[in-house]
Amino acid sequence: MIPERLGSFVHGQFRTSGKGEERACVIRETKLCMLHSATENDIAEGLNLNHEIRNISPYKRAEMLLKIADLLLSHTEQLAQLIVAEMGKPIKEARGEVAYAASYFRWFAEEAKRIYGQEIPSEKEGKRFSLRYFPIGGCAVITPWNFPIAMCARKIAPALAAGCPVVAKPAPETPLSMLIVATLIDDAGFPPGTCNILVGDEVAIGKAMTNDPRIRKFSFTGSTQIGTKLYAQCAPTLKKVTLELGGNAPFIVCQDADISSAVEGAIAAKFRNSGQTCICANRLLVHENVHTEFVSQFTKRVSSLKVGNPYDDATEVSSYINENSVEKVTIFKKDAAAKGGSLLFGEKAPHEPEIITGVTEQMRLFSEETFGPLVPIMTFSSDEEAIRLANQTEYGLASYVFTQSLFRANLYTEQLYYGMVGVNDGAFSAAEFPFGGVKYSGFGREGGPTGLYEYLSPKSISLMSS
Ligand code: NAP
Repeated sequence: MIPERLGSFVHGQFRTSGKGEERACVIRETKLCMLHSATENDIAEGLNLNHEIRNISPYKRAEMLLKIADLLLSHTEQLAQLIVAEMGKPIKEARGEVAYAASYFRWFAEEAKRIYGQEIPSEKEGKRFSLRYFPIGGCAVITPWNFPIAMCARKIAPALAAGCPVVAKPAPETPLSMLIVATLIDDAGFPPGTCNILVGDEVAIGKAMTNDPRIRKFSFTGSTQIGTKLYAQCAPTLKKVTLELGGNAPFIVCQDADISSAVEGAIAAKFRNSGQTCICANRLLVHENVHTEFVSQFTKRVSSLKVGNPYDDATEVSSYINENSVEKVTIFKKDAAAKGGSLLFGEKAPHEPEIITGVTEQMRLFSEETFGPLVPIMTFSSDEEAIRLANQTEYGLASYVFTQSLFRANLYTEQLYYGMVGVNDGAFSAAEFPFGGVKYSGFGREGGPTGLYEYLSPKSISLMSS
């Protein structure tokens, strides 16, 4: 399915002279390939990006981006199988991830043709002001394991659309699928060296990327802890930075909510990727008047989720979660139980869905990101209390509110201090939707009409007619 030996993809070739390590499927433990770490020379060459793309017309770039989308879709099964083998998400979701990644290339193919400038009238006779946008230059991106190709696609697609070459470092748990995607980017016609992928020592690669003055844009998705460190590393070379960091999403069910759609919304917002996404509903806040009804319907629905082998088409929650998630879920459950929380399903393994009611602000799962299929539920008695509880976090990525009242829809939209609000919507991620956070969840937006401008640099031009 994949070459026997893989390594960093630099200027159109896999580099395999560095130290090799055998990679195995996390589910079946079957051998996948040998993976070679980038040598110092591979890193240096990987950062020496090919800037030819700057001179390729936006229409041609658009054509090649569409070709990438088509190639991704025609390789859906191969890539989905590889994603499952590397990180264990259900195969149905892995196929969805490939389609989701392709949608970014498709969206930004169209956006490449819409890099408009501006003509600004001057008060001086004979003077013409204008504003034009140019590719920002070399870009470097680092991504986490939970969406092995989609997180890279969200960054690489707009960079290429803007006319920038890009070097990426996927997470060490999940580099293989992105290495295959890089070959598809070359196959779509982008010159070798337009998109390089480095795998290996993350500290050395991260330092080389952030120190290099030729890299003008750095985009990171991952934890707040590592994001702040990399942000500081970018300061001496004054790079433009995008940070997509951790979250602590509140999911608010108001007393006037349609309970069955709130239940479906909570399932979608909580169990995608077995609870391991940055926009997963981390805390369910339910109005006291509808708490009993909501918990009863939600518990029934959660019990019906098919938990099992991720290779099985019917599986909705995987029997495998990341080691860090196992640890967090275990600790958070113990902490909540010790502080008076009730575990509705009792003795469950960390990868199995579990609901905790009676949650309080003192529990760790209230203030920290769980990253697993554990659902904390707490009650509130007024909109003011729900808003206070929802905003009581250092994070500000996704938030959700379910209500049938226009007044409440407006109130929560305005008062929730978050980068994104889903009103009666538990699944809003889309290439055309600007994605990003505030506070310790980072800054910058990926996708949507503004996504392209993260990779463009404005130039003001003053033209004097003599
Ligand atoms: P992480 O520990 O921050 O790792 C993210 C990436 O950074 C990995 O590739 C990691 O490699 C690398 N890294 C770590 N230390 C580094 C260093 N000193 N220099 C350069 N690279 C370094 O995050 P994670 O645990 O993999 O991912 C989960 C986190 O990502 C959660 O907090 C989640 O909310 C967040 N996330 C955010 C979004 C968003 O769009 N806002 C989306 C998905 C996930 P190593 O694994 O080798 O450390």
